[in-house]
Amino acid sequence: MALTTAQRDALCSELRQRRDLIARQLRERLHEGGQDVPAGLAAHLADGVDPSEAYEEMADDLAWLGHETSGLRQVDGALHRIATGRYGTCVHCGAAIPAARLLAVPTADSCVACQESTERVPHRHPG
Ligand SMILES: [Zn+2]
Repeated sequence: MALTTAQRDALCSELRQRRDLIARQLRERLHEGGQDVPAGLAAHLADGVDPSEAYEEMADDLAWLGHETSGLRQVDGALHRIATGRYGTCVHCGAAIPAARLLAVPTADSCVACQESTERVPHRHPG
């Protein structure tokens, strides 16, 4: 079943809100203390903080940044697909993405089958 116009509009405004929120958080975090991440690391080292501790802190920051940035990219992608009329269509096989899936995961860009086959790609084998 395809999304109704009202449902798509609701998702669109939800995505815009999410985008604003993430963008604001990123801005706030990046402007914290007026330092970029490597400068922050240098400052920690200058303060006599153990390098491994300082690095851990930076790694946490970077992990957070990476997470937020990829979230932002997903939201942007979804908004772009709405704007270009391709929202709700699988980017891999062109199949319609079920409305229920879009309502649950508004940033979904692929159908369940493609999502699962992407996740099954063996990037790394444990062991
Ligand atoms: Zn697909």
